[in-house]
Amino acid sequence: MIPEPADLLRQHGLHVTAQRLAVLRAVSTHPHTTADGVTEAAGAEIGAISRQAVYDALAVLAEKGLIRRIEPSGSPALYETRVADNHHHLICRVCGRVVDVDCAIGSAPCLTPSDDMDYEIDEAEVIYWGRCPECRARARAASQD
Ligand SMILES: [Zn+2]
Ligand SMILES: [Zn+2]
Ligand SMILES: [Zn+2]
Repeated sequence: MIPEPADLLRQHGLHVTAQRLAVLRAVSTHPHTTADGVTEAAGAEIGAISRQAVYDALAVLAEKGLIRRIEPSGSPALYETRVADNHHHLICRVCGRVVDVDCAIGSAPCLTPSDDMDYEIDEAEVIYWGRCPECRARARAASQD
């Protein structure tokens, strides 16, 4: 059973507002989307919503652990609601497409440093970079011309 977005907000001690609900739903239906993407999707649902309101809602939802922020280098931050597991991302260098991949190990941190320098480590950030199947196929087709 997936809890209702309003219940999720309450369970995390947040007041339920139309804007937070719309932002949470937008992230849930558009995984790995940018704040601009969220603004567009949330706006389509509840009418005008300011970028600042979206940023505020994203910040509080991320802080409370309802959404996860991914920050690939060279890209604006991306947001998703899949937070309950330690999954990683494959990102296409060509078209920027992002997909989820389960962690091969399981719980975080799934990599062990050669020396932890006495840090208490709770996460290893893993992003796999490469080319997606579509971009590979396009490159193959182009090379055959
Ligand atoms: Zn691609
Ligand atoms: Zn993901
Ligand atoms: Zn892993």
